[in-house]
Amino acid sequence: MPVKRKPEWLRKKMPDKKSLDKMQAMVKNLSLHTVCQEANCPNVGECFEKRTATFMIMGDICTRGCRFCAVTKGEVPALDLCEPQHVADAVAQLGLKHAVITSVTRDDLPDGGAEHFAETIRSIRKKNPTTTIEVLIPDFQGDHKALETVLQAKPEILNHNIETVPSLYEIVRPGANFQRSMNLLEEVKKKTPSILSKTGIMVGLGETEKEVVEVMQELSKIHCDILTIGQYLQPSPEHLPVEEFITPEQFESYQQQGLAIGISFVESGPFIRSSYNAARAMEVLSKK
Ligand code: SF4
Ligand code: SF4
Repeated sequence: MPVKRKPEWLRKKMPDKKSLDKMQAMVKNLSLHTVCQEANCPNVGECFEKRTATFMIMGDICTRGCRFCAVTKGEVPALDLCEPQHVADAVAQLGLKHAVITSVTRDDLPDGGAEHFAETIRSIRKKNPTTTIEVLIPDFQGDHKALETVLQAKPEILNHNIETVPSLYEIVRPGANFQRSMNLLEEVKKKTPSILSKTGIMVGLGETEKEVVEVMQELSKIHCDILTIGQYLQPSPEHLPVEEFITPEQFESYQQQGLAIGISFVESGPFIRSSYNAARAMEVLSKK
């Protein structure tokens, strides 16, 4: 299938090389990884210029093989026990007010890496007591005990991306399950209502507007606080093709519909990614 030409609204200026080099050097010195680089995020220039990044813990190789994702799949390394401290050091060096931590999926670990997440939260908190912390976690294969381990470390935001509408799960997220992910998000608010729950979806994969609205209704029912909606971009010819470039007007309409349905904060636009401008939701919701 020929690759669709990107519309005007999806053209981005080239990132500033100096900022990129500086950030990459710091990340390498601390033996860290960022999802910004691993997932070829289109916002990397803008975010690195603002000295912000999303750290990816537990290595740069994933045990799953989602068909939209540029992260390498294969044999995973042993956990780096110094990593939580290194992330805390990087947060301090960058002077981050809001830190976002994610990971690859580690189905090989008995707790899916929950304790490593918790230790990273505690290390950041100890070194950076005023920094707010957002974790973007995998589904832990539905293990709610693992989820509780992360919740007990008290991040301000617990994010888990549902990525797409249920009808596309089999082709987009093999190995995952829509209901399992929704149950995990629901559990966050049941167990710890003070923690903000957050999720994100990509559009342009072949979903219909009706399906997106239904997902938003489901999210509202489980009291999900924050939703991000962004355009899917094909990272390589081996990944799923883009079915549709969603217009900025349609993104705006999704945002309005999400808010009307009752989700407190909806960020929707062609370049919106789960961690894009992540501090904004904290600022807005803390004033409500
Ligand atoms: Fe990194 Fe998120 Fe910014 Fe992308 S949007 S560059 S993943 S911080
Ligand atoms: Fe990428 Fe996450 Fe899927 Fe792994 S589980 S392939 S990191 S989206």
